[in-house]
Amino acid sequence: MSLWLAILLVVVVIAVIVLIISSKKNKGLGSRVDDESMRTCKNCSKTIAEDYLKSLCPHCNKFLI
Ligand SMILES: [Zn+2]
Repeated sequence: MSLWLAILLVVVVIAVIVLIISSKKNKGLGSRVDDESMRTCKNCSKTIAEDYLKSLCPHCNKFLI
């Protein structure tokens, strides 16, 4: 009887570890997607190239926030 309890405990622990690892992976992928996403102008909501370093939007010539 104690053997079955031990097996059940191990299965529960493994399930919890797998859940924690999968949730961490999902969060990591989400932040990576945010980092790789293009910048957008908040005035005209058009996309701006990541290597565009000027402080003025090339589409509406307003300051990028
Ligand atoms: Zn703009």
